[in-house]
Amino acid sequence: MKITILFLLLSVGIAHAHTALSLTRKLQFPDVPGYKTLKCDFHMHTVFSDGNVWPSIRVEEALRDNLDAISITDHLEKLKHAADIPMPDRNRSHEAAVKAADGTNLIVVQGTEITRSMPPGHANAIFISDTNKVLVDDPIDAYRAANKQGGFIFWNHPTWIGQKPNAIAELMPMHEQLIADGLLHGIEVVNEDTYSDEALQIALDNNLTIIGTSDIHGLIDWQYNVPAGGHRPLTLVFAKKRSAKSIKDALEDRRTVALIDDSLIGREEHVVPLVEASLIVHKAAYVDKNNSTVLALILRNATSVSYTLENTSPYNFYTHTDVVTIPAMKDTTIQVKTIERLKELELTFRALNVVTAPNQHPEISISITVDSE
Ligand SMILES: [Zn+2]
Ligand SMILES: [Zn+2]
Repeated sequence: MKITILFLLLSVGIAHAHTALSLTRKLQFPDVPGYKTLKCDFHMHTVFSDGNVWPSIRVEEALRDNLDAISITDHLEKLKHAADIPMPDRNRSHEAAVKAADGTNLIVVQGTEITRSMPPGHANAIFISDTNKVLVDDPIDAYRAANKQGGFIFWNHPTWIGQKPNAIAELMPMHEQLIADGLLHGIEVVNEDTYSDEALQIALDNNLTIIGTSDIHGLIDWQYNVPAGGHRPLTLVFAKKRSAKSIKDALEDRRTVALIDDSLIGREEHVVPLVEASLIVHKAAYVDKNNSTVLALILRNATSVSYTLENTSPYNFYTHTDVVTIPAMKDTTIQVKTIERLKELELTFRALNVVTAPNQHPEISISITVDSE
């Protein structure tokens, strides 16, 4: 009897913890005008190169994180488990992921990591159709082979201290040639737990697509401490439709934002509409006491990142300093001193957790219509 009660209590506890976790772990970002916001991770490894899990686990992790698309990008030239998994056919890890994703709505695009010394270093080729054909001697020939298949290619972790001891991303003549020849299309500004201002500047100067990836080898839950509320880095892709083709079109058109922790990195025209769609005015009413001119505003953050906003409006706040934190997926009340009772107003903020160029944070605006009394 005692045992049964204990067991029941335990099961209730576990069920409760599981519900709470699944509510917070599903990554959420709203669509923006004209586009769907798709959550994508285009860099991950499995036992088919130097990762520790079967591709089906990558699919399971992506589904738990509410991702829209992934690519398994095992190293072409680094097979850690070759004695057990010789991998004569390099398409196998993609095929295993496609099989695992069957019956779900996860989009799996074929990819591989071209793994060379610097230059050119490592690069991911995604949207390819036959990985075996990318396995050639000369690095430039590998880029050409991937491009021939319609591949989209981005430079991985250009600041990785394994290849760049000073962790400063720099274009070398070979990269410049690859870009000039149209063989290299994007760059990781975020890789795993690293972010690079120099990589962002290279993207802006050379019209490359801004990418953020997990480059996961172990487990997402352990590396990013998901049970404690952490999440993996991502590329948010603004696509016309939720399809592989639309994602590729968006990447080619550079419609992306990279995400690491609570930071969003992207071109102003992409990141500002995202922030403005993320912060919803839930309620706006004057505090009644003494017929005051203090407006109580409930801001709902509909995303999985917390925003740090610096007030640039002509009004001061009754409840906050000029810097306000809006926690992820929560409501925050800000009381605004409007001096007179207004029907409409506009608040402007500098979004400090959003980066559009090195050391630059965009201004966003929130239009408010005061609720009728
Ligand atoms: Zn790499
Ligand atoms: Zn990698």
